Amino acid sequence: MYDEFVGFVKSIYSNKKFIPLHEPLFIGNEKKYLNECIDSTFVSSVGKFVDQFEVNLAEKLGVKHVVATVNGTTALHMCLLLANVKENDEVITQPLTFIATCNAISYCRAHPVFVDVDSDTMGMSPISLKNFLLDNAEIRDGVCYNKITGKKITACVPMHTFGHPCRIDEIKKICSEYHIKLIEDAAESLGTSYKNQQLGSFGDLSAISFNGNKIITSGGGGAIVTNDENLALKAKHLTTTAKLKHAWRFDHDQVGYNYRMPNLNAALLCAQLENLDIFIRNKRETAYLYQSFFNDIKWAKFISEPSHSKSNYWLNALRLKEPSERELFLEKTNSSKVMTRPIWTLMNKLPMFKHAFKSDLSNAKALEESIINIPSSVRL
Ligand SMILES: *Cc1c(COP(=O)(O)O)cnc(C)c1O
Repeated sequence: MYDEFVGFVKSIYSNKKFIPLHEPLFIGNEKKYLNECIDSTFVSSVGKFVDQFEVNLAEKLGVKHVVATVNGTTALHMCLLLANVKENDEVITQPLTFIATCNAISYCRAHPVFVDVDSDTMGMSPISLKNFLLDNAEIRDGVCYNKITGKKITACVPMHTFGHPCRIDEIKKICSEYHIKLIEDAAESLGTSYKNQQLGSFGDLSAISFNGNKIITSGGGGAIVTNDENLALKAKHLTTTAKLKHAWRFDHDQVGYNYRMPNLNAALLCAQLENLDIFIRNKRETAYLYQSFFNDIKWAKFISEPSHSKSNYWLNALRLKEPSERELFLEKTNSSKVMTRPIWTLMNKLPMFKHAFKSDLSNAKALEESIINIPSSVRL
C-alpha cells in the first residue's frame, strides 16, 4: 500500500532518483549579491546586506524591528534574555518541538515547563496553558509564580509546528493576563499568516530561523523580531558583544554575545527573501496535491492548515491511522529513496528534561507516535 505513495511522490517531484525531505533552491539573485558582497570585502557582520535584509523582513512581517543573528537558536536565546528570563525561572513551552527551543531556555539556566499541544495545530494548546496556570500559578506584585515549585514563570514560548499556526491570539491573551512575556518560536513559519496577521508579529519578541532546511536560507542564520524599539536596540547591542559605539575604542558595558549575522549570509538571504512568496505559492500547490492524494487513502490523513490561517506548508506531514505501522512506513519509503522522517521525540522524554514540570500531554504523545514528515521542497 505504501508503493502507491512512493509512486505519487516520485511523480510530483519529476521522478528524481532521490527525493529529499527539504532542499534549498537558489534561482534568483543569490550569486549576484554574493559576488557583490565579496567584491566589497564586507563579508563579516557589518555590511549593507544585513541592514537591507532587516528592513525588508520587517516590512514583510509588518513589524517595526528585525535584528539578524547567526542562527535561530541564538535568536531564541536572545529573545529569552531580553524577556528578562533569569537563572532558575520557569519558561512554559510545548514538548513537541525541535530541541533548539529547550536548549535556548537552558542557556539562560531557566527550566522548561511543558503544556500540551492541540491535535489540529500541533502547536501549544491555549486550553492546556490556561488550565496549567489556573492550577499552579499565582500573581504576586505583578509577577507570576508557580505555587508548587516557588519559581517565577517569566516567559511562554509556543512554536508554530511545520509552519502551521498555533492559536497564538488566545495564547497572547492568557500570557498578558498572567504577566508572562510571549516569545514566538516562529523558526519554521516565516510567511504564514493567522487571521490576516503574519506569524512572528504576535509575540513581545519572536525568533525565526534561516537554517539550510528552512523555507528560505542564509546557510545558517536567524532573526529577532519585535515592535519594541528599546528591545530592538538592546538586541543589537547584546548581539554585537555589547560594544559601545566609538571610532576606535573597545569598550563594552556588559557580557555580550557574538551573535550577529555576517554580511555574506545576509547577501544570500536578501536574494532568498525576494522569492519567498513564489516558494510559498509552490508549496501550497504541493500541499494541495498531497491533500487530494490522501483523500482516497485509508491508512493516513494529510495534515492541512488550521482554520483562519494561510500556512507556508514548510514541511508536509501525515498522520498514520495505525502508529504501529510507523517503522514499516519509514523503512519502505526511505529504502525507495523517498525521504521521510518521524516527528521529534517529545522533549520531556530526553534525559535533560525528564524531570521538568509538566501537564497532561496526551495530545503530544498521540502525535509523537503517528506523525511523519514527507518530501516538501519547492518543485521546479
Ligand atoms: C530550526 C528551528 C530552530 C533553530 O534554528 P537554527 O537556525 O537551526 O538554530 C528553533 N526552533 C525550531 C522549532 C526550529 O525548527
